[in-house]
Amino acid sequence: MDGFIHSIQSFSTMDGPGIRSVVFMYGCPLRCVYCHNPDTWYAQRQNATSPHELVEKLLRFLPYIKSGGVTFSGGEPLLQSEFIAECAEMLHDHNVSVAIDTSGEIYNDSVAKLLTRTDIALLDIKFTNEDDYRRYTGGSLEGALNFLERLEKRNIGTLIRHVVVPGLNDNAEDIFRLKEILKPYSVVKRTELLPFRKLCVSKYEELELEFPLKDTPELSEEKLRQLEEVLEQ
Ligand code: SF4
Repeated sequence: MDGFIHSIQSFSTMDGPGIRSVVFMYGCPLRCVYCHNPDTWYAQRQNATSPHELVEKLLRFLPYIKSGGVTFSGGEPLLQSEFIAECAEMLHDHNVSVAIDTSGEIYNDSVAKLLTRTDIALLDIKFTNEDDYRRYTGGSLEGALNFLERLEKRNIGTLIRHVVVPGLNDNAEDIFRLKEILKPYSVVKRTELLPFRKLCVSKYEELELEFPLKDTPELSEEKLRQLEEVLEQ
């Protein structure tokens, strides 16, 4: 099965352990108000790539990504689980670790198959109550936590990411709730707070889309540090 790939970042140290290549997949069922990648939302059918073609490309980076691996991101990579599962099998043949960076909002037989070939998960817990989750992302906290439960059952080491947006969730109560929510899960190795940034404004302009948070200020470094302290308490 072919995959629809937006772009490949050869090397990253921000998308899982070690140096990793990141494959950004097309398509996403959510519409997060702070999304940095609206250009991945709609699949471009002309960008079809076979698993073999993609893995060959990725293997060129093998000397660098040996300590890390490959992360499938997006968009929402789980929309193309069948394709990624095929790639993962080939990457494992070369001892390359496979991570998925996901909102965890999709589950079906293909996703179940992909999880049998997933070494690491990067999971967004976007908001800490159901109302905000639905209002600001179109997804659900319940969906994300069901996915985390599946990662727990399969013992897949997980990095949680939580974007902090001024006026929406930049308060200690939110971070306490996040900690409580994550407490039961032993697979969670780390939780990372990501500050809201507006580097994506030009992408929205190019796509002629309204950026819902255009008037929201970026999160200050000071506020981020305060909330990180709450997280570590
Ligand atoms: S899940 Fe990710 S790609 Fe999809 S809308 Fe949200 S931030 Fe954007």
